[in-house]
Amino acid sequence: MDSQNPHASRVSPVELEFKRVSRSFGKVEVLHELSLTVDKGKLCCLLGPSGCGKTTTLNIINGLLEPDNGKVWMGGIDITGMPPQQRNLGMVFQNYALFPHMSVFDNIAYGLRRRKWSGANIRPKVTEVLRLVRLTGYEERRIHELSGGEQQRVALARALVIEPGLLLLDEPLSNLDARLRADMRDEIRRIQRTLNITTIYVTQDQEEAMSMADRVMVMNNGVLEQVGSPREIYEEPATEFVADFIGEVNFLRGKITNGELLLLGNRFPASKGEWTEGGEVICAIRPERLKMRDAETGLLRGIIEDITYFGSVVRYHLTLKNTGDIDIKLKVSVTGASASYQTGDEVGLDFQPADLILFPNNG
Ligand code: ATP
Repeated sequence: MDSQNPHASRVSPVELEFKRVSRSFGKVEVLHELSLTVDKGKLCCLLGPSGCGKTTTLNIINGLLEPDNGKVWMGGIDITGMPPQQRNLGMVFQNYALFPHMSVFDNIAYGLRRRKWSGANIRPKVTEVLRLVRLTGYEERRIHELSGGEQQRVALARALVIEPGLLLLDEPLSNLDARLRADMRDEIRRIQRTLNITTIYVTQDQEEAMSMADRVMVMNNGVLEQVGSPREIYEEPATEFVADFIGEVNFLRGKITNGELLLLGNRFPASKGEWTEGGEVICAIRPERLKMRDAETGLLRGIIEDITYFGSVVRYHLTLKNTGDIDIKLKVSVTGASASYQTGDEVGLDFQPADLILFPNNG
């Protein structure tokens, strides 16, 4: 129990909970018995490819859609069926959805006026939120007089001014250029931490999710494949889909024999898991976990086919040698400063068996 706070044990640490939520459109089931929890004060990213059900999930949270089955709880209250305006949510959309004919001040004050705040109370509140999003002095500007990044800040201020219990962000940075996106990620994170507001952030961009989230919820085909910290999701992907979707990865085929992993002629201790003797497995290994050596010394041997230069990192594209009729391609990442190989070089590759992540081969 929190010794600083005598009420801590009575406060639910869970702000949002989905209990086996399903939703179909026509005959197509988009969400299947989806259960998830978002803890108070955390920033959770809902990450997945286009069409996996992220917006549907968000619209069930904000009340624009009802689930066919299952329950949604917020702050310990069952909100399934509750009208959207009673849910006390702040929403930020991809297209900002600002009122173009109103000033910045009026855009932000809108939610407070609807809640019948007095003019005397509205001004200091709007001023406070403008300071938070670093737009002090922009009160009288029109929306078309703002840059994309500034418009996004107004959208954020408008969502926050009503002091929502939950902040929902739907791909809020996808209309911004790469540099601004990176700046706004830091900015949203700073504001979220300052207010300690529970936030659900929907994105297709794994880099965005990994750099911002306390917890990442990886969604595929309407189900959660894995929920974890960015590090867990990257280092210990629960499924082949997660390993592939998050970061770069190589896949190799292997087989379990005598309790060990047989991979391209070499045997390694198989990692933890229930593996069937003789069973085929898929071995995932991150490009930076492969180490390039002189051709004679590595566990594997390959020819460098192509080189991609990213500045801090250089990625080598290799074709393995001695693999019979099968053409196996691998990516190897090294830090820019230590990258000295050329296209056409034959190299050896080493890795730690513990860096192989094994999945059953169902294919
Ligand atoms: P994106 O990242 O592209 O926005 P998403 O993960 O948010 O995708 P959803 O918008 O939740 O995906 O859609 C999930 C699936 O449900 C898609 O196949 C979509 O075509 C379908 N869908 C969504 N809304 C409707 C609707 N109103 N009627 C019929 N099908 C719908």
